[in-house]
Amino acid sequence: QPTLAVVGRPNVGKSTLVNRILGRREAVVQDTPGVTRDRVAYDALWNGRRFTVLDTGGWEPDARGLQASVAAQAELAMSTADAILLVVDATVGATTTDEAVAKVLRRSKRPVLLAANKVDDERLTADVASLWSLGLGEPIPVSALHGRGSGDLLDTILGALPETPREVLGATGGPRRIALVGKPNVGKSSLLNRLTGEERSVVDSVAGTTVDPVDSLVELDEETWRFVDTAGLRKRVHTASGTEYYASLRTKAAIEAAEVAIVLVDASEPLSEQDLRVITMVVDAGRALVLAYNKWDLVDEDRRYQLAKEIDRELVRVRWAERVNVSARTGRAVAKLAPALRTALTSWDQRVPTGQLNAWLNDLVAATPPPVRGGKQPKVLFATQAQTRPPTFVLFTTGFLEAGYRRFLERRLRETFGFTGTPVRISVRVRE
Ligand code: GDP
Repeated sequence: QPTLAVVGRPNVGKSTLVNRILGRREAVVQDTPGVTRDRVAYDALWNGRRFTVLDTGGWEPDARGLQASVAAQAELAMSTADAILLVVDATVGATTTDEAVAKVLRRSKRPVLLAANKVDDERLTADVASLWSLGLGEPIPVSALHGRGSGDLLDTILGALPETPREVLGATGGPRRIALVGKPNVGKSSLLNRLTGEERSVVDSVAGTTVDPVDSLVELDEETWRFVDTAGLRKRVHTASGTEYYASLRTKAAIEAAEVAIVLVDASEPLSEQDLRVITMVVDAGRALVLAYNKWDLVDEDRRYQLAKEIDRELVRVRWAERVNVSARTGRAVAKLAPALRTALTSWDQRVPTGQLNAWLNDLVAATPPPVRGGKQPKVLFATQAQTRPPTFVLFTTGFLEAGYRRFLERRLRETFGFTGTPVRISVRVRE
């Protein structure tokens, strides 16, 4: 759910207003000068919509002085919330501290609302108008104590909050999202533990990041990654009837939520139907893919030979995926995961300019034209990359292209432009 950060210096009635927004009486904690407290998040509900209220405390001057402390709080609000509410005291007017905060908040890319508090009656209208000087738009009069104007304020807040919180919106910013999937007992929990080491709790509580509790932030190769829906990995779910169905739903959901999936298979056992099903889920969902063969410490010469045959036989469809042979137990090659993820995501994101694409295509088709069908030679007219994530191409032709020729085109497209680790979609449109 989206987050509203409430900021303001002590004594403006911020806590009272937060309680108003939450619709409850009990004091959060009184705004007592000299008392600093940590940011606290509360759940609010208005007109059927839920949102989180982040009460940024600690407005007292710290070692760097009041202005610096205030600026830091505003920065924090801007980096975490979907909208910000600055509370000022209308009976006092804009103080230099208020001005300092407003100056920082004017740079915000998210909506900033200005509440003029302590407007207990009409006579204070002139004082409210003077707060336009803060450069944050129209001040919204409210009396947190008596409740005057709080309904209007809440309506305005809802209007400013996006339907979807910034984590989802910020899909292109923030850590890239990975699903760690595979059938039971392939070593998903073991690998996650290996990757996080003892650091998980520390990484989880990085200041200013609101992390969905079911995800884990993991530092790999000097980059932070988000492993989605790892809650199920931490708590081992015990086998019961129907569990497999739920496990499969959960796998699907994790893949949907991710940009790239690491499909873990057990290298010490023959590849199974279940492994192939998970791989298919990733390809069908159009996510980037890294294949990780775990338990490599158990693989001997014989098994390695078998494995090579299995890969040739069963994994032709995903020949484009990078394979990493790891051992969660010994830590072998675990460091190769991050580079493989990066390669896959780069391909997943890649866009080939139309000019370049068609120059390549013309040469290719001239050298190897599509097979003749029904006495006719289909012409390939033009191609364009309609989408990325995954790369999706549209090919315009004068006739049907055989599956074999399409596969040939895809293979050459991958070789030429380096689409490693991502499904590539090609659709053919026949023009009469
Ligand atoms: P999950 O169900 O996929 O989360 O699998 P677990 O992480 O619980 O691992 C299942 C079993 O495989 C456990 O007994 C692990 O100790 C073992 N295991 C995991 N990774 C390795 C590995 O790299 N080598 C070996 N030999 N055993 C492993």
